Amino acid sequence: MVKLKSLEEIELLRESALVVSKTLGMLASEIKPGVSALDLDKLAETYIRDQGAEPGFLGMYGFPNTLNMSPNAQVVHGIPTSEPLQEGDIISVDCGALKNGYYGDHAYTFPVGEIAPETQKLLDVTKASLYIGIREFRVGNRVGDVGYAIQKFCEDHGYGVVRELVGHGLGTKLHEGPEMPNYGKRGRGKKFSDGMVVAIEPMINMGTKNIKQLKDGWTILTADGKPSAHFEHNIAIINGKPELLSTFQYIYDALNISSTEEDEFRQKKLEV
Ligand code: MG
Ligand code: MG
Repeated sequence: MVKLKSLEEIELLRESALVVSKTLGMLASEIKPGVSALDLDKLAETYIRDQGAEPGFLGMYGFPNTLNMSPNAQVVHGIPTSEPLQEGDIISVDCGALKNGYYGDHAYTFPVGEIAPETQKLLDVTKASLYIGIREFRVGNRVGDVGYAIQKFCEDHGYGVVRELVGHGLGTKLHEGPEMPNYGKRGRGKKFSDGMVVAIEPMINMGTKNIKQLKDGWTILTADGKPSAHFEHNIAIINGKPELLSTFQYIYDALNISSTEEDEFRQKKLEV
C-alpha cells in the first residue's frame, strides 16, 4: 500500500534521512585498509544514538547490526565482520535510522584506498544510474519509467541489474509500497503523485545479474564472484518533482570531492 505524506511528514523524513547522511559522512573518513566493518558498525551505532535516533536496521527482521556492510562481490545485506578491509576493496554501506517515528535508509559504495579503474567505473555508472532513475520519479510518470531508465543505462554498460531486490516506499515503516525495481518497462506500474516518498537503490553487478545467498540467511552475493555496487537515496515528490531528502554531501565534504550532481533535485537549499 502507498501512503502519501504531508509536507510536515516529508520534513520528518528529511530529518531521518539526514541522520543517515551524516552517519555515512562520518564513516567516509574512517573507511581505510585495516579497519573492519564491525569497527565501523560500532561507530555508526553510537553516532546515530548521539543524534537522538535509533539504528533502523538493528533487530529489523532479526538483523544483528546497525549497518549492512557488503564488500566486493557482496551485493547487499552483508553482516559486518571483524575481518580488516584491504586496499582495493569496495564496500557498500547501507544504513537506516529511525527518528520521530520515521525511517531514513540510504547507502553508498566506498572505495578502500586505491581501486582498479574497472571497479571505479562500476561505482561511477551505478551512482549515475541512481540519478537517472530519480529524474524519472515525477508526476506524470510511473514505477516502470524509473526501472527502465536505470536498467537501460546499466545494461548499455554491460552490467547486470539485480532483479530479486528492489527499492521501496519509505515512511513510518522501513519498507512501504510501492516496490521500486531497478528494471522495468516504460509507462507500466503505479502512477506517481505528490507526497510519495521512496528509496531508489540500484544494485548493479559488473558481471551477471544473478545472485546467491550465503547460509547466514542474509548476505546476498553475485553468482560469478565479480564486484557489485549499491547506491541509495530517499526522495519525495513535491510540486510534481523529485526532491532529495538524503545527501551524499557529507561524504563529499569528508573526502574532498566537489559535486553538483544533487543540485537539480533540491527545491530547498541544503544547509550542511
Ligand atoms: Mg532501502
Ligand atoms: Mg538501504
